[in-house]
Amino acid sequence: MNKIIRQTYHRYYVWLLGLGMSGAVAFGTLVAIVGSVLTTAVVMLLIPGPKDFFWYGMIVAVVSPALTAPGLSSIAFKMAFQLNTTQAALKLAAETDALTGVSNRRSFMTQAELAFANAKAGGTPFTIVMIDIDHFKAINDTHGHSIGDSVLRDVAQACQAALRASDCFARFGGEEFVALLQLTDTAGATAVAEILRKTVAVLAFENRMPPTVTVSLGVASYLASSESLHDILNEADRQLYAAKAAGRNRVMVSATAVRRAS
Ligand code: GH3
Ligand code: MG
Ligand code: MG
Repeated sequence: MNKIIRQTYHRYYVWLLGLGMSGAVAFGTLVAIVGSVLTTAVVMLLIPGPKDFFWYGMIVAVVSPALTAPGLSSIAFKMAFQLNTTQAALKLAAETDALTGVSNRRSFMTQAELAFANAKAGGTPFTIVMIDIDHFKAINDTHGHSIGDSVLRDVAQACQAALRASDCFARFGGEEFVALLQLTDTAGATAVAEILRKTVAVLAFENRMPPTVTVSLGVASYLASSESLHDILNEADRQLYAAKAAGRNRVMVSATAVRRAS
């Protein structure tokens, strides 16, 4: 019951916000006038008196809320609109990695858990690609931490731009990123991973510092035998470290090097 009331209230709240500030104030004023007229009419009909008295009462019942409700409802709706904007900004901040501007790990895990539950329920398959910048410590050591930060930003933005809007690309931690590719099988995801690898390999950084950056990638798809999301993440991680061990700047999937470093 509580849930139904909350959902109804939320739907009404969203509908009111959809009216915009002036629409919401007009609606609030109209509701106040209708409420005032109905209450006054009931009271007037219950109290016997001259007929004129009823119509004077009605005029007061209309004019009084018409004068006061716009001011009061604009204060209330201004607060509601500000709260809505603040909530949206907080939600975005809670889902975004502050340094790179892409999704953060928490947001990724929420979406990936949903994709896993959907796939388990007979829904669409998905694939995970783990991406780690090669020799990033050396970039920091050679060019400084702030250049390292801007490399993280550029790599993240370039990878996100190379993906579809329906894919989730997130910073998993440090210099490691992860992509959740919806409706994509291993072959499709391997091609996407290869696009990401090439995208980073040709990125030009400011003042050629560093001259080039490469990434290693591990690909793992949802399988009917996958027991949890962590199974898939661990497999993608294993492939990523196999790519590192095989020489970096490459994509590995199911223990097979798809493409050697160019
Ligand atoms: P590998 O090719 O094996 O991945 O080597 P690597 O040097 O990339 O990996 P390693 O784990 O040795 O070093 C990762 C470095 O990333 C160390 C850490 O200081 C740096 N790092 C992590 N987060 C940030 C960050 O937010 N900004 C900067 N500038 N550096 C970071
Ligand atoms: Mg690394
Ligand atoms: Mg790493």
